[in-house]
Amino acid sequence: MFSKATLKERRQYYREEWSTKDLPDFILKDLKKREFGFDHNGKGPNDRYKVFRGRESLKKFLRYKAPFAAYISVAFYNNPRRREDWQKAEYIFDVDAKDIPIRTCQCDGVCEVCLGQALEIVNSLIDTLQDDLGLNNIHLVYSGRGYHIRILDEEMMTSGSELRSEVLKYVAGAEVPKSNFFNPDISNKSFNFEHFSIPVGYSKIFTDKLKYNIQHLVGNEELDEINPKLMKDIIKYRHHLDNDNWGYFKRDIGPRRYKNLTEAMARVNLSTIDAKVSIDLKRILRLPSSLHSKVSMKCMEVKNRETFDPLQEAVPKFVEERGE
Ligand SMILES: [Zn+2]
Repeated sequence: MFSKATLKERRQYYREEWSTKDLPDFILKDLKKREFGFDHNGKGPNDRYKVFRGRESLKKFLRYKAPFAAYISVAFYNNPRRREDWQKAEYIFDVDAKDIPIRTCQCDGVCEVCLGQALEIVNSLIDTLQDDLGLNNIHLVYSGRGYHIRILDEEMMTSGSELRSEVLKYVAGAEVPKSNFFNPDISNKSFNFEHFSIPVGYSKIFTDKLKYNIQHLVGNEELDEINPKLMKDIIKYRHHLDNDNWGYFKRDIGPRRYKNLTEAMARVNLSTIDAKVSIDLKRILRLPSSLHSKVSMKCMEVKNRETFDPLQEAVPKFVEERGE
């Protein structure tokens, strides 16, 4: 498992296992307005500007080429073949398990533990997107090594990079709240979307993530602002947070060092998500249903995000047949 797929295995996957039924509806809708990109030899997607009229022509291509990787644009164009006349683009949160800064597993690539952690993180992001921002056209895709949250609400689809970046910082918990760490109800921030405006509790988002990070620290993370002595004390006193005793925790850490800790964690939160992907209006992303050949896993839409287990659901048949 997690090893590279051979050309023979790729062919087997696209000829015997892949089906047009595996393409999610949100991908099939307006398919011909999207740009496709392919990586045929594992060196990156250099076969770009491809367009398909429908699922059957895509099927033919995939069966014939069995690409190393297949991608589709987040953008919709009137002229996708030239990437011209941009109309709108999905809004994306990309969480790769191997890039999570605080990982309890300490593995080199990805494993069951960090994939599980990535799912916890995307679930909390989706909760915030839905509950605080009122977005509801949200699709979760397992990418093969992590997750893509793909948002198709019109308010976000037609927005530019600036709003995307603002929303990212909010949802990720990328800024230390100005005041009132301990009272989630007091410090509120509100967003002005073109079509709706909802006051939301940023402090709670930040505090929840702060707690999550502190509880997942292993102790050997290298974070600016956190020296070895502070790291030791955070781990020593984090038991206070089991009962949300932030007052005791802050007292034992000390106010100045507590400030250092919150600033470090704001940066950790931002680096958990690939911000470049979120603000990019023309990005291509792995096609759901396609094969992630580097790790021999299926990229696929997640139907039930509470119970999804990639090691059960995203393993192609040829991996089982390897009999490792
Ligand atoms: Zn891991």
